[in-house]
Amino acid sequence: MSELNLILLGPPGAGKGTQAERLREDFGLPHISAGDMLRAQVSDATDLGLKAKKYMDAGELVPDEVIIGMIIDRVGGEDARDGFLLDGFPRNEDQADALAEALEGLGRRLTAALLIEVPDEEVVRRLAGRRMCVKNPSHIYHVDFDPPKHEGVCDQDGARLIQRKDDAEETIRHRLEVYHQQTAPLVGYYERIGLVRRFDGSRGADEVHARIRAALATLRLEEKL
Ligand SMILES: [Zn+2]
Repeated sequence: MSELNLILLGPPGAGKGTQAERLREDFGLPHISAGDMLRAQVSDATDLGLKAKKYMDAGELVPDEVIIGMIIDRVGGEDARDGFLLDGFPRNEDQADALAEALEGLGRRLTAALLIEVPDEEVVRRLAGRRMCVKNPSHIYHVDFDPPKHEGVCDQDGARLIQRKDDAEETIRHRLEVYHQQTAPLVGYYERIGLVRRFDGSRGADEVHARIRAALATLRLEEKL
């Protein structure tokens, strides 16, 4: 079986987590989320986590070499032998170079960079409309797509619904700005080596999933030729 070594790119609110979960079910690929890994290392107080925490506590970005070491180690792990799905890494061309080098050292290479595209206005609409229950953060609603029966009140326990700070419109616009700044050069980088596959993330999750599956099936066939 040929490997599926994949990178997932797309703005916040594009449904990357949902697609990653489905690809994990389809192909048994581990979903390697840089953010989740970093949080886990910090909470387990590993050497790497303690190192990272120093920067985070100081309000600084965790340096590339710390993140790169963590990801490379994970990509070389047993459960990623047949492939992986990287999310939140690489974030810049230096990280992309480091990843390419590490994979080469393992006799492997990237299969594709999957780019899920969603227009900014759609991202704002999706995220700024979310409301969360003050009693139970897993009770989530959306003012347009999944409204509660009574405005501002949780259906399940009658508690008040609030908007998380992360979901405030100006926060989302700032995150989008950062996303575009970081991602545009990366998309260029992977386009130059022919690895980018684009998907229209404004379609429903089922359709995006079907299209990604079809693209991956084609890639696998091509690899065998
Ligand atoms: Zn609730």
